[in-house]
Amino acid sequence: MEIKRIGVVGAGTMGNGIAHVFARSGYSVVLCDVGQRFLDRGLETITKNLDREVAKNKITLDDKASTLKRIEAVVDRPRLADCDFVIEAATEKFEIKTEIFRDLERLTRPEIILASNTSSISITKLAAMTKRPEKVIGMHFFNPVPVMKLVEVIRGLATSQETFATVRDLAVKLEKTPVEVNDAPGFVSNRVLMPLLNEAMYAVMEGVATAEAVDEVFKLGMAHPMGPLTLADFIGLDVCLDIMRVLHDGLGDPKYRPCPLLIKMVDAGWLGRKSGRGFYQY
Ligand code: NAD
Repeated sequence: MEIKRIGVVGAGTMGNGIAHVFARSGYSVVLCDVGQRFLDRGLETITKNLDREVAKNKITLDDKASTLKRIEAVVDRPRLADCDFVIEAATEKFEIKTEIFRDLERLTRPEIILASNTSSISITKLAAMTKRPEKVIGMHFFNPVPVMKLVEVIRGLATSQETFATVRDLAVKLEKTPVEVNDAPGFVSNRVLMPLLNEAMYAVMEGVATAEAVDEVFKLGMAHPMGPLTLADFIGLDVCLDIMRVLHDGLGDPKYRPCPLLIKMVDAGWLGRKSGRGFYQY
């Protein structure tokens, strides 16, 4: 079966980016969210990001217009019924994703692959919620989706080789670089990145150095484009804490315990860039 029509569930930060890259690569996209205001915001972001690509001469004004024309924004989930591939990028809550996967299974043809963009929820567990676990897979894009090249392609325990190969090829068609990963807490990206950010927070908490100094060390000494505390503020400190908890619970090793300073900052509502205050003030 040729994949032509893509369903994207969730029009937030990641969902609108995913819709953008599929539509820009010529696929027709059905973008679905629970309210018109989320869709409007998503489409606004896509338009702004396409404008940026036009300004950089990466695409033409015609490309922008045809990309936008290929995206149909809907609140009505049954409109996903005739999609050839569906990716879920809704809020990171297991109950929300379970409900969506059960409904997608009911709505879509049995041969359709159902992917999730989750950062931390077990693909194996999501797959077990459906009657087609061999067709469930992780397709983990990175923020900002139109810019970042990596896609972690995550095999659940039951994911078939055919499903894996189809999703790997899809990522290549989007001009992304797929990397194969097995299902485990945090996959590879967050398994390795989050403990680094967490350790940087311990260094600040223990007075080893200021946040600015820790970030300088990584920018100048390791050529990171941004230091770990700036990055944590960008990701959202609540998101960092949730992922550390997934690692701690899932792997059971005390080395993954969330830094007490991180917990305290989240309790204070200091969530980083999005709340105006984190390790830095915005
Ligand atoms: P977000 O909060 O920006 O967007 C989530 C969207 O899902 C919202 O628009 C919300 O209205 C919608 N939604 C909630 N319930 C829904 C439902 N039942 N049906 C349809 N839509 C629904 O979140 P995000 O940052 O885009 O994250 C989405 C997913 O991507 C999460 O699983 C997250 O772990 C993952 N992820 C996020 C990042 C990141 O940097 N933000 C990176 C990689 C993966």
